[in-house]
Amino acid sequence: MHPWNQGIFDSLRSRTARLPHALLLHGARGTGKLALAEHIAQFLLCEAGDPGGKPCGACDGCRWFAAGSHPDFRRLEPEALAPEPIEPEEGEPGAKRGKPSIEIKIEQVRELAAFLNVGSHRGRFRVALVHPAEDMNANAANALLKGLEEPPAGAVFLLVSHRPARLLPTIRSRCVALPVSIPPRETALQWLLGQGVKDAARWLAYAGGAPLLALDYAARADVLDRLLKQPAPATDRDQVGTLAEALQKQALDRAFSAFGLTPKYQTGVPATDKRHARAWLAFAREMGRHRLLSRHPLNPKLFSAQMLQERPET
Ligand SMILES: [Zn+2]
Repeated sequence: MHPWNQGIFDSLRSRTARLPHALLLHGARGTGKLALAEHIAQFLLCEAGDPGGKPCGACDGCRWFAAGSHPDFRRLEPEALAPEPIEPEEGEPGAKRGKPSIEIKIEQVRELAAFLNVGSHRGRFRVALVHPAEDMNANAANALLKGLEEPPAGAVFLLVSHRPARLLPTIRSRCVALPVSIPPRETALQWLLGQGVKDAARWLAYAGGAPLLALDYAARADVLDRLLKQPAPATDRDQVGTLAEALQKQALDRAFSAFGLTPKYQTGVPATDKRHARAWLAFAREMGRHRLLSRHPLNPKLFSAQMLQERPET
């Protein structure tokens, strides 16, 4: 867990006696929601009895959790996010596997239900972490809703979401919301410096203040620098979203400067005349839409070339 989320954890810990059976951790990308959820999960599974307000790190529960093998913990996420893609079994040449899914599917939720309905192995909680919860497809969401409506005793659901508005309202209403916000700039900067990040202030600005995002950008500084200096069509799918994001943030910075404000994302674009502010804002909105679409572009090269063409000429 990251230091800026300690307060949220402490406020929750003080009420573990009456812990809600479902929490929805939501907030911007890169604020450490997932790490906070994992910390809560480990705390619930720790068998040392709250020594000093955090999981002890040494008991069986903590060690299994750290090894990813705790029998009372399940993590639901899209296959595409899983650390190691599942390979077809040996001797099954016919086993065709498509791309790993970007959705959480109903089979995963059914498996989870079966797990939750079996008693706890360690006599404590059984914890299910769903991340990102908005990646559940409609069937999966409806199946999860059943579990939330009639939770088995001792089951705790931790839902993590960057886009809670995309969840079923009935799912949202069954969870206690736990907002995770962007930390104060100084806190984030200190943390980034502690991670040895170069140009921390710049990448933090580009990340809109989200420290983990800034860390990720700093690790890709060369690529992003090149892209920001000279946006070029993407050659593969993964680059399309990166390009749309760069174009969106540059357009917003131009609009900020046109209105006489400091460019928020520090993309280094030239100042823009006030007359063109609207055109850049409209383009930024369009790029925001493309960022959402960029997971399924038909042809990455064509799609990104089109984005570049749409840019206002000023
Ligand atoms: Zn422990």
